[in-house]
Amino acid sequence: MDTQQLLRQLPGVDTLLLNMETLEKWQDLPHSLKTRIIREVLEEKRRAVLENRFHEEKELTVSALMPLIIKKLEKAVTPNLQRTINATGVVVHTNLGRSLLAEEALERIMAVASHYSNLEFNLENGKRGLRYTAVSSLLTEITGAEAAMVVNNNAAAVLLCLDTLTRGKEAIVSRGELVEIGGSFRIPDVMAKSGAILKEVGTTNRTHLKDYEGAIGENTGLLLKVHTSNFQIMGFTASVSMDQLSSLGRKHGIPVMDDLGSGTFMDFSPFGLSKEPTVQESLRAGADIVTFSGDKLLGGPQAGIIVGKKEWIEKIRSNPLTRALRIDKLTLAALEGTLRLYRDPEKAMARIPTLRMLTMDESLCTERANTLHKKLMALVLQGFDIEIQPSIARAGGGSLPTQDLPSRCISIKSRAVSAASMERQLRKHQPPIIGRVENDAFLMDVRTLQQGEEDIIATAFSSLFSQSPNPPSPEKEKP
Ligand SMILES: *Cc1c(COP(=O)(O)O)cnc(C)c1O
Repeated sequence: MDTQQLLRQLPGVDTLLLNMETLEKWQDLPHSLKTRIIREVLEEKRRAVLENRFHEEKELTVSALMPLIIKKLEKAVTPNLQRTINATGVVVHTNLGRSLLAEEALERIMAVASHYSNLEFNLENGKRGLRYTAVSSLLTEITGAEAAMVVNNNAAAVLLCLDTLTRGKEAIVSRGELVEIGGSFRIPDVMAKSGAILKEVGTTNRTHLKDYEGAIGENTGLLLKVHTSNFQIMGFTASVSMDQLSSLGRKHGIPVMDDLGSGTFMDFSPFGLSKEPTVQESLRAGADIVTFSGDKLLGGPQAGIIVGKKEWIEKIRSNPLTRALRIDKLTLAALEGTLRLYRDPEKAMARIPTLRMLTMDESLCTERANTLHKKLMALVLQGFDIEIQPSIARAGGGSLPTQDLPSRCISIKSRAVSAASMERQLRKHQPPIIGRVENDAFLMDVRTLQQGEEDIIATAFSSLFSQSPNPPSPEKEKP
């Protein structure tokens, strides 16, 4: 058949539309969407014919085209941002949405999102209010700070503080703390944007108090300490503590700021995790301003929290940049819900998913791995080797970078399917299941799985890799 004859075989848009009307599932879709997708499929086929990519008449029939159309429709109606199963073992996984909110935070979002609220309205005097009021008193209560405010994220908090305190002035920072956090957030670049003049002191591995002291001049606006979040320098090292730095600042009348990055209110060392400086400790050691994220170790929504001396917080609040970096009301509601849990540290540990996963006992990982293993074994997948193996989970999000969280993973090898193909098919599953490939095995760490996700994983394996759509019942298996 020549090209023109083949092109004449293609059904018309109307024929395909009529065919689609018979499928109940798609009847409510807008006509315009259906026609657009039909036209796309027809155009792809037309091009294939013109480019001589096939010659089979049967590839141009209605029954051959319908599955292609339906596949595109499925894709069009699936939300782009969707729930994903994190089987990576990385708790604060930046690419997978960092922190999951506690139910108490979700309740606050629901209450505020679907109703009017007193977001910027003072119910006491009937006048205009500040949106920070919802969380500032909780923050000062928990941290012991004089004042507090919040912005969109910690990157914004750092930018805003530097812009307020050091525009055109020098900020002194140790060379060992000029970090790059993922997503191109680099301390020197943020400082340049804020108009602060970076004055580096010390060396990569060692910085002493005398280095800061020697660098102080007429134009010094700030002494800045930055948590090295995602890396650790080991060996011959020295850094200056917040205690020492704040005494130096007081002596010279220069404010001291601590960018804690992850920021936590809790000491995790009783749970076998390494000691992180808490927000309270930094303030007690004399920091004038402390900034940290809402959605890293804190386990709340994305937010940048600024706590410290009233004098500085007020200056920061009145910076016009604040308006551009302001926190959204849904975030504020979730943050309030999360912060309220911190009034009782035990409750925070039990209710905030990030804290729960970080401090989860290894025996619970084993239990969970056993459950998932059993469910996968029950599918009797032909040619699949499914094993429980020890695994190391991570805090992630640039927090506790050297901390091993002993965990368990399910390792899956198959003679029929490569680990890379398994990874791809599970990633494209609804909902996507994200694990990792190591030595041609597909690995799923159980520490980051949520309630009920074992069943979703088992169903996915059954539909993707089972020979028969219905797994054989135990009776049939018997010889
Ligand atoms: C993560 C981090 C930031 C940025 O915080 P976001 O909430 O991601 O904007 C800034 N400073 C440090 C030290 C960090 O670890």
